[in-house]
Amino acid sequence: MATRVPHLINGEWRHDAGGAPFAVTDPTSNQPLWEVASASADEINQAVASAKQAFQAWREVPTPERARLMLRYQHLLKQHHDELGALVAQETGKTIADAKGDVWRGIEVAEQAANVSALMMGETVENVARGVDTHSWVQPLGVCVGITPFNFPAMIPLWMFPMALACGNAFILKPSEQDPMTAVRLGELLLEAGAPKDILQIVHGRKEQVDQLITHPDVKAVSFVGSVPVGQHIYRTATDHMKRAQCFAGAKNHMVIMPDANPQQVVSQLVGASVGAAGQRCMAISVAVFVGSAGDMIPALRDELAKVMPGHHSDTAAAYGPLISPQARARVLSLIEAGKQEAECLLDGSDCTVPGYPDGNWVGPTLFRGVTPQMMIYKEEIFGPVLCCVEVESLDEALKLVNANPYGNGTSIFTKSGAAARKYQHEVEVGQVGINIPIPVPLPFFSFTGWKGSFYGDLHAYGKQGVRFYTETKTVTSRWPEDEIVETNMTISLK
Ligand code: NAD
Repeated sequence: MATRVPHLINGEWRHDAGGAPFAVTDPTSNQPLWEVASASADEINQAVASAKQAFQAWREVPTPERARLMLRYQHLLKQHHDELGALVAQETGKTIADAKGDVWRGIEVAEQAANVSALMMGETVENVARGVDTHSWVQPLGVCVGITPFNFPAMIPLWMFPMALACGNAFILKPSEQDPMTAVRLGELLLEAGAPKDILQIVHGRKEQVDQLITHPDVKAVSFVGSVPVGQHIYRTATDHMKRAQCFAGAKNHMVIMPDANPQQVVSQLVGASVGAAGQRCMAISVAVFVGSAGDMIPALRDELAKVMPGHHSDTAAAYGPLISPQARARVLSLIEAGKQEAECLLDGSDCTVPGYPDGNWVGPTLFRGVTPQMMIYKEEIFGPVLCCVEVESLDEALKLVNANPYGNGTSIFTKSGAAARKYQHEVEVGQVGINIPIPVPLPFFSFTGWKGSFYGDLHAYGKQGVRFYTETKTVTSRWPEDEIVETNMTISLK
């Protein structure tokens, strides 16, 4: 019998949750890895009630003690980096290097959460009026919920719960049902680091469980990362139920290549940024915008992409792994098919096979030229190893194209011109901008901010601003009449 993925409810690992179990499969073979049962409505209620109670005690734990928990957690995550990387690779099919990168980016957030005392400092102004002072406290919210996608099963849960917990909240995580075991291991390590047993709850499931969580009267805030339709649904539903919500959604990321850019650099960076992780990154480059004669680089790009092959994570030569599921593969293949009707297909990865893994969800690198904004392959977030080339005459035209796109997660420009780079970074309407860097994900002491259709909500978060999401600022204005002061030998006390 396949291993059951346990839920963490009220500090207990429960293997016998209510709903009918379904299989989590290995994307390199589609063989079952483990099985997971959705939480019942009663189990969700138990998780919320337990988190609500845990919050009362946890919020009283001094901030430096909460920070020390994060220091111990960061240390344990580092000790288990290889093991967690192997688990991520097993569940997602990512290469080991990529899987370890997923874990590492999460460790960096736990590290940032250990700095929570400084990040939670309020503000003060003395004498806002004669004899009146104002100061603000930053206080936790209560029970916060996180809904995470399949593509970064370590990093994205770690974007959320360490910061929320360090701020003094209790947290309920609903990881992706496609790779839920990584979240379980992250939870085990948090308990091993000495966390009170009930400040983190982990429940599994799909829409039904998510909807119950985001409408529950005792949940104060919802963090979501995933696709656009689900992000919109979660944002609408959670805010309709008066929750604070931040929803990070899909993307279509453009890289603009100016004619003066270094061709070797462009080609090698574009290969990794477009088909790395099988294109299943919200910051993957899916559109290359060649300005003027930069289009001459396209044949070399095709040749380099043709050398890249996916493979099993045990194969160190594999450039990337499979897509997460047969459904994801079928969707990507149908978009490639649609693209072939609309644009020039320079490289077609539809018939990709990997020796020894005939049933894996493989798609080879795919390259289209002559793509226009009206085409389906331009409009859809493909989320596969597919790169679309668009050619334009000028930087202004490139900016117009990128700014007209409904998404705004990441973008980059490759150029030797400081003036072109400055103009691009100033005028582009996208949250993360790279200059000669293809995937500009900021370190966690900066905010991660999608624009336009890539983000719904406020308090653009994680990293520094994450503290602002998971807390409420309370401003206190106080007047202390001088005639209330009583002098004693040692101290000044109030009557
Ligand atoms: P998804 O939207 O299908 O699932 C995300 C989560 O929502 C999962 O936990 C899932 O169980 C839950 N869910 C799915 N359907 C639901 C529904 N109808 N109602 C309520 N909950 C539901 O996303 P995915 O396929 O797991 O992840 C890929 C997507 O995530 C891509 O679009 C990618 O761009 C996006 N993503 C965005 C960022 C970012 O920071 N902007 C980061 C990573 C991934």
